[in-house]
Amino acid sequence: MSGYLRLEGLTKTYAEHRAVDALTLDVARGEVLALLGPSGSGKTTTLRLLAGFERPDAGRIVVDGEDVTTFAPAARRFGMVFQNYALFPHLDVGENVAFGLRTSREVAAKRVAEVLEMVDLAGFARRKVAELSGGQQQRVALARSLAPEPRVLLLDEPLSNLDPSLRERTRRELREAIGRTGITTVFVTHEQEEAFDLGDRVAVLSAGRLEQVGTPDELYDRPATVFVATFVGRANELPGELVGGRPGSRAIVRPEAMRFAAAGALAGTVVARRFAGGHAYFTVRGESGVTFEVFAEHGAARVGAAVRVAVDRVLFREGGGA
Ligand code: ADP
Ligand code: MG
Repeated sequence: MSGYLRLEGLTKTYAEHRAVDALTLDVARGEVLALLGPSGSGKTTTLRLLAGFERPDAGRIVVDGEDVTTFAPAARRFGMVFQNYALFPHLDVGENVAFGLRTSREVAAKRVAEVLEMVDLAGFARRKVAELSGGQQQRVALARSLAPEPRVLLLDEPLSNLDPSLRERTRRELREAIGRTGITTVFVTHEQEEAFDLGDRVAVLSAGRLEQVGTPDELYDRPATVFVATFVGRANELPGELVGGRPGSRAIVRPEAMRFAAAGALAGTVVARRFAGGHAYFTVRGESGVTFEVFAEHGAARVGAAVRVAVDRVLFREGGGA
């Protein structure tokens, strides 16, 4: 992987607290990288280090072979879209988008029209920001960050400000707009679905450290740690000995790798069912007291029924000397 953007051992400590801990990542030219992690895992701090709003205690940021670690934000030529968009309400769309441009009016007007087209807002230049939907405002913020032709685009939780009903559509529009520009992008999210849908690769952070980086398929099918297995998608934690492992070990099993079967190794009772399209998640309380979820056709079992469950695949085993 040729790293157009390289983070090398990036570290940031606040008081005694390591917000970002020796983070090393390579982002290829034109790649969209998602930084995924729970609240407090160091995502925003990483983005602020990249943008130049914070200085790392150790480590380097290199873009296109140039070490920009000590550069002021503007000198890096990165574009940033903030979580709250930070648009100027008293300026119209075109004035917002032109804000960072240091060119003649004619050149600026041409560039504004170009980037509004890229984000599918052609003809919106004279509209008032307050008259736009949340998703449109987000694309104005995106257009503003793209106008000066940045080398790298940074987005902090790009969809978190939107009504849940708007997120899926806005996510698609954002994916298309970023795709049209082909720009190298790093974005931050705590939502796995967002990371998987928008990211070519996803870097999973926990407590400031990189747990794993890979394509969505790699992370889902071959998680490197229990944290990744359970954070990325749904997963059951079972005592290892219930599924052929050593006493004292833990086994991680996806709900879709379990099924109801007369000869299944696990016996239990269905205690709940949650619909998900034609299928459902069945919560099963096993005889040994462990509770787990089985993903099966919605009519596969009744709540209250005694069932047996077979395990098709253990995703991950840990501990117990296994
Ligand atoms: P995330 O964006 O993943 O939720 P952050 O990068 O905002 O996480 O924060 C990571 C950790 O660093 C948190 O424990 C947070 O409290 C701490 N932190 C972030 N910014 C500051 C700051 N300016 N001063 C002190 N602690 C901070
Ligand atoms: Mg954050």
